[in-house]
Amino acid sequence: MPADKAGIIPRLRPRSAFPTQPVSPLNEHPMSTALRPSACPGLLRIVQALDGGICRIKLNGGSISADQADAVADVAEQFGGAIEATNRANLQIRGIGQQSAALIEGLLAAGLGPRTAAADDVRNLMLSPAAGIDRQMHFDTRGLAGQILDTLQSHPRFHELSAKFAVQLDGGEALAMLEHPHDLWLSAFECDGETLLAFGLAGCPTDRAVGAVALEHGHALVVAVLELFLELARPEQTRMRHLLDELPLSAFIGQLSTRLPIKPISHWQRAAVADDLHIGAHPQNTSGRVYIGAVPALGRLDPVMLRGAAQLARQFGNGSLRFTPWQSLLLPDVNAGDAVQVLEGFQRLNLQTRAGEPLARLIACTGSNGCGKGLADTKQDARLLATLLPAALNIHLSGCPRSCAAAHCAPVTLLAVNPGHYDLYFRDATLPGFGALHARNLTIEAVATLLATRSRSPLDA
Ligand code: SF4
Repeated sequence: MPADKAGIIPRLRPRSAFPTQPVSPLNEHPMSTALRPSACPGLLRIVQALDGGICRIKLNGGSISADQADAVADVAEQFGGAIEATNRANLQIRGIGQQSAALIEGLLAAGLGPRTAAADDVRNLMLSPAAGIDRQMHFDTRGLAGQILDTLQSHPRFHELSAKFAVQLDGGEALAMLEHPHDLWLSAFECDGETLLAFGLAGCPTDRAVGAVALEHGHALVVAVLELFLELARPEQTRMRHLLDELPLSAFIGQLSTRLPIKPISHWQRAAVADDLHIGAHPQNTSGRVYIGAVPALGRLDPVMLRGAAQLARQFGNGSLRFTPWQSLLLPDVNAGDAVQVLEGFQRLNLQTRAGEPLARLIACTGSNGCGKGLADTKQDARLLATLLPAALNIHLSGCPRSCAAAHCAPVTLLAVNPGHYDLYFRDATLPGFGALHARNLTIEAVATLLATRSRSPLDA
């Protein structure tokens, strides 16, 4: 469709309310009748997979209280199967049988649900897992995040956003996921003694920012961007990148700048982050306090592990846990003197606490064991690979090209082609997708051998 003179593409037809019908026979809970159809699981929308239903629990800033973690463990034990930490710092329960309504009821009773059924899908705001406690942060993002989440849930217009439409609020923390693309990202920095928020569309804070706003305009910026997106995008343009495929970025920003003051930005660059701050003990911004990061192998927990982590949070932390985009968890506010006990506690629960352990660095999607699209049992193959690797490497095993386990490109990707066999890719910033195809149809043993011979080369950024 041609753009008008201002580069703005008129909308062909208004967005209408989504049809209200359940999408799965498992949707038995009364609140689910107010849901729109979507392939994405939600807390109220149980989506069927090979291994049963999937319920996704969206966590505010990845945070969950110990009591809520116990509730998740309880309902998973009674009505479901595995608990998974997702790469959006949420949790999901797999393997749900016919008692999905009871499972949903248990999660709602624990305060893990949305304010209204229609608000569940839009709770997509990513923070650093170390928000408010990170030594490098420019400001504590949790207050602004609360405002944004409140608006997303209470503003019916925003319930029209895709369940995948997501915002990142980066406070400049050292512990930050900067590789996951978001429809809108904001990143704090200091300029002449003032904290500003750089922002960009359809990308990451490591991309070039398109402008900046004063910190007090952060909430207004999010509202303005989302409203403008909904005004300009046609219904089938569900993500910001779809709109920007047709509409020049300058036209979007031109429209946006009529709604709030936007500062031009030229030389800002997001500070780099370390690779392994989500694993092990790390100092917080308060003297004598540390947070402890622990990785459940391949993002999977059982109820005993989750209850055990919750108990550690009660005993040594502030009674809460935070989940991370590395499919791991973090226990904040531990006295530095208790760090060893907490690390040992996680190890007893079979969580990885050392960055050098291969299983702490591998990620794998559900694979053929639970997903109909999977061409190989990625989780089992990842466990085998971990026993064969010469060193810990950041490797992603994907059962098909959809790449559910990773929103970013890993340094090494194994893409399943048939059971036990994978194509091997190395990340290449000049190439889209998984990077450069290095070898085809390798067994796990062959992958391990090949990586061993390359182990002296800098594969793992
Ligand atoms: S990446 Fe493919 S095989 Fe793996 S969980 Fe997603 S859809 Fe299934």
